[in-house]
Parts: sequence; C-alpha cells; structure tokens
Amino acid sequence: MAQYLSIKARHEDALLFFRMGDFYELFFQDAVQAADILDITLTARGEYDGKPIPMAGVPYHAAEGYLARLIKAGCRVAVCEQTESPAEAKKRGSKAIVNRDIVRIVTPGTLTEDALLPARQGQALCAVSLGAGGTEAAIAVCDVSTGRFDVSALAADALADTLMAYPLSELLVSEGDLDKPAVANAVAASAAPVTFRPARAASHTSGQTLMKETFGVSALEAFGDFTRTELAAVGLLLDYVKLTQAGSDIRLDPPIRAQENGHLAIDPATRTSLEIDRSMRGERDGSLLGTIDRTVTAPGARLLSARLSRPSVERAEIEARLDAASWFADDRDMVDAVRTSLKAAPDIERARTRLRLGRGGPRDLAAISRALIASDEAAALLGGDVSALPQKIALAAEALNLSNSPDLRQLADDLETAITENPPTLAREGGFISKGWDSALDEARGLRDDSRQIIAGLQAKYAELTGINALKIKFNNVLGYFVDVPARHGDPMMKAPLSETFIHRQTLASNVRFSTQELSELAGRISRAEDESRSREIAIFDQFCERIETLSSTLARTANAIAELDVAAATAEWAFAADAVRPVLSDSIVFEADGLRHPVVEAALKKDGQGFTANNLSLSANEEAATCLLLVTGPNMAGKSTYLRQAALAVIMAQAGLFVPARSLTLGLTDRVFSRVGASDDLARGRSTFMVEMVETAAILNQATERSFVIMDEVGRGTSTWDGLAIAWAAVEHLHSVNKARALFATHYHELTKLVDDLPGAANASLRAKEWKDDLVFLHEVQSGPADKSYGVQVARLAGLPKKAVKRAAQILKQLEAEPSAPESLPLFAAAGFAPATEEDETDFTPSPSEADKLLQQVDPDALTPREALDMLYRLKALS
Ligand code: ADP
Repeated sequence: MAQYLSIKARHEDALLFFRMGDFYELFFQDAVQAADILDITLTARGEYDGKPIPMAGVPYHAAEGYLARLIKAGCRVAVCEQTESPAEAKKRGSKAIVNRDIVRIVTPGTLTEDALLPARQGQALCAVSLGAGGTEAAIAVCDVSTGRFDVSALAADALADTLMAYPLSELLVSEGDLDKPAVANAVAASAAPVTFRPARAASHTSGQTLMKETFGVSALEAFGDFTRTELAAVGLLLDYVKLTQAGSDIRLDPPIRAQENGHLAIDPATRTSLEIDRSMRGERDGSLLGTIDRTVTAPGARLLSARLSRPSVERAEIEARLDAASWFADDRDMVDAVRTSLKAAPDIERARTRLRLGRGGPRDLAAISRALIASDEAAALLGGDVSALPQKIALAAEALNLSNSPDLRQLADDLETAITENPPTLAREGGFISKGWDSALDEARGLRDDSRQIIAGLQAKYAELTGINALKIKFNNVLGYFVDVPARHGDPMMKAPLSETFIHRQTLASNVRFSTQELSELAGRISRAEDESRSREIAIFDQFCERIETLSSTLARTANAIAELDVAAATAEWAFAADAVRPVLSDSIVFEADGLRHPVVEAALKKDGQGFTANNLSLSANEEAATCLLLVTGPNMAGKSTYLRQAALAVIMAQAGLFVPARSLTLGLTDRVFSRVGASDDLARGRSTFMVEMVETAAILNQATERSFVIMDEVGRGTSTWDGLAIAWAAVEHLHSVNKARALFATHYHELTKLVDDLPGAANASLRAKEWKDDLVFLHEVQSGPADKSYGVQVARLAGLPKKAVKRAAQILKQLEAEPSAPESLPLFAAAGFAPATEEDETDFTPSPSEADKLLQQVDPDALTPREALDMLYRLKALS
C-alpha cells in the first residue's frame, strides 16, 4: 500500500492501473469510478485507516478494451508496471516487494493502440500558444500514432477555426493563456477534452530544449526558423508527450512547418453545418467524407480526411492532386489493379510508430513487410517510365519501388522470411520467428523438442517398469512434469523397489502423482531451452526494431506515398461511381457549374431508388453585369438548402483536389467558405437560436472578401417577421455592396426578391413546385426569377398536420392575401365568420390510442419482475 500510495500521489488526476501479476488493480476512489464506468465488480482488499480498501481489477491481457472505454469516458489512465520479476525482487531480500513504476499515461490524445484508435481517422494532439501582444498565435500538433509533427504560426483570431480543421483528440493549453480571448474561444469551440498545463511548459526555451533533445540536434535551424510563439507551443506539446511517455524517448518525425494561410478557411459553424466529416448526428455516415471516401488504406483514409478538412488555396498543389486523380480516371483497369494491391497494405504508419515507441510486437513487423511488398506491387503497376506520370504519382512510384531502396528491399525480404504466418501480438509470447532464420534459435528449439520427445518415450518405459498401462506423464504449472496413475496403483509405487524411482508428490481422490529424477532433469532442460529460445527471439525482434528505427524516415515516406496513391485512385473510383468530373480552376472569380449535384443527398436518394435533379449555377464576383449574389426562393422542401449546400461543397471538394459531382465546374480560387444554414440552439453555450444566427451572420459580414464564397439560408427566421425581414434585407445589401463575395441567399421573405431592381449584381432564382390535384409536386428544378407562391399550407398537409388545421390555415391565408397589411389582426378572423372548432371536431385531433398504447396503460412498471418486463417488451414489439 505504501508503494501504491507513493505512486498514486504523483498522478492524482489519473486513474492508476497498478499491475499485480496478471491483473491491473485499481484502489480507493479509482476503483469506485472505474467499476462504475466499466461495469465491473467492486470488491475490497485489506484495510487502510481501519476501513476496507475498495478494489477493482481488469486482466492485463484484456486491458486494451477497458482502457478504450475509460478514455472514451474522459478519464486519463496511468499505467504502472512491475519493473522487475518476483525472482529478481527476492534476490534483494525474502520480503522485498517487486519494484513498480509508471510506464505510460494514457490520454485521449496520446493513444497508439490500433484497438483504441479509429483506423481511418488521424488523431491530433494540439498545443496552442499566444504571442505577447495577443495577436499572433502558434499551433504545435502531433499524431503520436503516426509520428507526424506540424508547427505553424497564424493570426490569433484564426486559432479556433484552424484547430477545428484537425482531427482534434486533445487540446493542450497553458494556464498562463487561459484568460486570453483567442484561447478562451478555442477552448470553448473544442469538442475534444482540454488539458491545462503549467505555464512554465509553454516557454520558448522549453521548446528549444525539448526539440533539441527529441531530435538529437544542437541547433534548430535545420528545421526552419521558429518564432518564440511557435517554440512555446512546441514546448507545451513535447513536455506533455514526454510526461505521458513517462520518461522514455519521444519518437516523432521532424516538424513540418505548415503554412496556415495556404488553406481554404472554413469556420467551425460552417464546418458543422456543411457536414464535411461528420453529419449533424455526429456520425461519419451521412457526411461528405463518409459518402465519397473510397480509400482502401488507413494512411489514405487519413490523408483524404485531412484534405477535405483543410482544402488548399494553392493552385499548383490543387492542380497536382487533380492531375493524379485524372490520370487514374482515364484508366479504370489501373484503378482496380492499384486498389487491389494497396488493399493488402496494413497501416504501416502506426505499426512503425508503435515499434519505435517500444509498444509494438511481431504483428507490427509483419504489417511493415506486407505493406512494403503490397506497395511495391502497386508501384510496379504504374509502369517503369516515371517521367510519363503526373508529378504526384511519379513521386509515389519512386518512393514505393523497392528497387530504389536496397535497405528497404532487404528489410521487407528479411521480415517476410523471418516472421511466421500468424505472429502473436506480443514479442514475449514467442514462436514468431520462422525455422531456419537463426541457427541458435533453431538449436534451442531442437533441444526443447528433443526433450519432449524423450519424455514421451519415458511414459512407455515407466508403464513397462510398473506394469501399469494407465500410467501417464502430464504437465501442470504447479508440479511441472509428473507421473500420474489411478489411485488404486498408488500404494505399490510408494513401496520399494518402485519408490526408489518414483517420488510421491500428491494424492488426489482418483489419482496419485509422482516425480522422478530423470523427469526433473529433462524438465530443467526444456525450461532452459525455452528461456533460451524466448530471449533469442526477443533479441531478433529488437534487432528488427533497430533496423526499422534507422529506416524510420524512409518508412514515413513510404506511408505518405501509399496515402497519395490511394487518395488519387479513390478519387477516380468515386468519380466513376458518382459521375463526377475534374473541376477547372480559373483566374477570374467565378463559379460556373453545369448540372451540379449534392453528393450526399444524391447518394441517400439513390438508396431509396430515387433520382436527383441536377442544377446549374453561375456566379461571378468583380465583373460588370454579372450576378454575384443569387436570391433563392421557393416553397419549403423544394430543395433550396440542398442547392446552396451543394455549391459550397463543390468549392471545398474542388480545392481539396477532388472531383466534383457535375457535368462541369469552373471555379475561381476561393479564400474562405462561409455557411449560415439552418438555425439550431447552442444551449450548451447559452445562446438562443436567434443569437447563434446573428453571431454567424456577423462573422460573415465582417470577414467575407471578394474571393469568399457565402451561402446563407433563412437569415432572420429566428425573430419576428419585420425584424427578420429588416435584418435579412440589410445582410443582402451588405453582402452585395460591401463584401462583394459570390453568394447564395435563400429566403422565405418574398419582399426581398424586389431587391434585385436596385442591386445590379443580384438576381432571383427559385425552385419550382407544381400543384397537381390539390397536391404539391416538387420538381427540384432551379429557374430564374422569384417563386410565385410559398405553398406553406400544402407542405403542412404533406407533413401530416390534421386535416382540420390545414383547412383552417388555408382559409386564414386567403384572408391574409386579400388584406396583407396586418397579420396582427388575426384574432379578428374568428369574428369575421370562421366557425370555431366544435367539440365534436376536436375529438378528431386526438389520435385514437394504439394497441400498444392500450397495453402500456395497463402496466405498472414497479410491479413487474424482470422476466415479466422482458415478456412485455416482446409483446409491445410484436404490436409495433
Ligand atoms: P428547402 O431548403 O427548400 O426546405 P431542402 O433543400 O431541405 O429544401 O430539400 C428537401 C428535400 O428535397 C431533400 O431532403 C431532398 O430529399 C429533396 N431534394 C432537394 N433537392 C433535390 C434535388 N435537386 N433533386 C432531388 N431531390 C431533392
């Protein structure tokens, strides 16, 4: 307990997994908390201060699953291992306790285990720092599972937006920066857990020292010219990585200095509302990424996700990505072949990193060899003449072709020969080095197998000697090898002469057990041979790890090349499936789309066997007599939001270097995409729908430039009619005349459609609907000019409003249309001859109770046994 308490005192804020034999045990409050989250038994062990000590435990071999759940529940876990064997401890004294120490602190941002990480998503541990003036900021971000490490400087007010573009899993903030608005905003916007660190970690000197230490260099110039703010962020990050690795070396790749201004800016509200990598429900399914992702490797999936999250603004880079995708799109057989090869490549990035961190095992070795071989195959498919290939494919082909790298070739071949077919996860389990690879190992194994052979022979010899046919030689962990005979033969064996050979060990109800000198010697030989072969295997494993460490940067290049190739082929694959085309980039600020579609809505409709109506859109900023702002009207459900969103998504996809679902698209490069779509309360932050709407609208009107692309849907809806109209009106004028951005503005205020008379760059468009036999048919077709009617009442009927209510709404509407001046006069309608609903009518509005309702009414939940409750559930299910 003293040992436990002293270790726990150093890690107050984490649950302590305290290794005891085959279990990780938790004590005191940790046990209570973990038992609750993991749903495991809470027991007690010993006493402390006269009270029983609460205890809970998880088996060490199954610890990963439990860790995953604890991390998901927001906990941090300090893993404390035995650092010596019980035998070693005994050498120090018969009562000595095994030494233990923390080997690692598991936090949401520092995971490396495959089981704990979503394979197709990166995980970003981000540290932020602010400059002294409060206007410049820096982000240091790493993915400890892949070793990637980026550092960038940016404006403080772009901090929150930029952070959200990373697959953030944990945010590190210095306590010294907490009261600064930019950091407070980032903390508030972060969906990932935020960890506060002492201010001293975030100093530029700590950054310098840790960076030099990590990369073993004496000067940092080789990595670029870092600002003090960047170094402070680096310090904050590396200090934490070091802490969580409990003193072992930090293994990250050298930092890449990212150009934050090289990205298309997308603010968090826009990112969420456009459902780029998550749907509104927080799932990948139903998001843009979930719909278009056809990658077959984990590094590829992570690269695609990163590109969509941070599209580029650099034309050369975008064109290079598109060139690669086009090359594949021209050759379907090539796409199939390359994807088939790549599919066989396991996650080389994470395998390499786990091995570097000392958390890897034989399976990671096998993964590296398979990935190298599979990607070499893919490279061979691309053809020998790389000069004929687009730049990105040529680079990938060169990196993946093993004949360009004799060391990698040798490593791949050696691993393939040395590692057995289905290796275990942990090196200490042994048995993963193939026969014939190492003569010392083969010898030790031979000795062990020979001895086993001899033991098998002994059984026959002893049976003959004793005349007992039922005699067996068996093995268990307590006795080791022993002779086992049925109880009735026990006595004669305990008498001379047999007792000279057979030493009695144990009498059970039906068996008696003996050992012999010969058996003990053989057992000793077997165990020595086993120890020998195990340590030999571990030595070979370590040698491979060393080789991988020296080849680390080459392997990182392999992983990047796999990702590049995979994304390019996946883009083409998706283009075949969704009939998408290469966007054309233009110098003028245009958006010229022919037959544009919404990839996610289209895919959803397709599942239901329905088609999607493609629409055109033509916008141009900064050009005489061209439309830069389109006012979109039309009934609810006509497809306005879809039309708006598909345009914004097309900008994002094109600048991510992907194909777009259209017959053609010409796009002038865009600096920011803004979207103000659909109002939802942000109750967690204490903002009403209207407040959220206004904050987002303010952000757009303050920041949009001529190069931005803006979609705004139903602005002003969250307040009273005239207020809302006034605000929407002003917003349109501002967008048109001040921001001059390419913009789409959907509204239900018909009054706004008149604005086009005064604003030369504005035009009206509407989504068509047709009335047909009292019903409403949506054509989802965009036409120029404003919508004639809003069809709200018809939509209400489609939605299943009670007939009576629909009828009454229609009457009220007619009246209002005749006298539009005063909606406030509504109460007069009752007086103006509308029959108030009678009691009889009212019964129509109450749905009659269903069979299930009736059954439920009879149930008293407190009076049910669990069995009866289950039966009830089945009955209800049958009724539904
Ligand atoms: P609005 O914003 O006008 O209320 P939405 O854009 O939300 O309408 O569209 C409502 C529904 O209509 C969508 O969920 C989709 O099923 C369908 N829809 C929208 N646009 C199209 C289209 N171009 N082709 C086919 N169906 C569409």
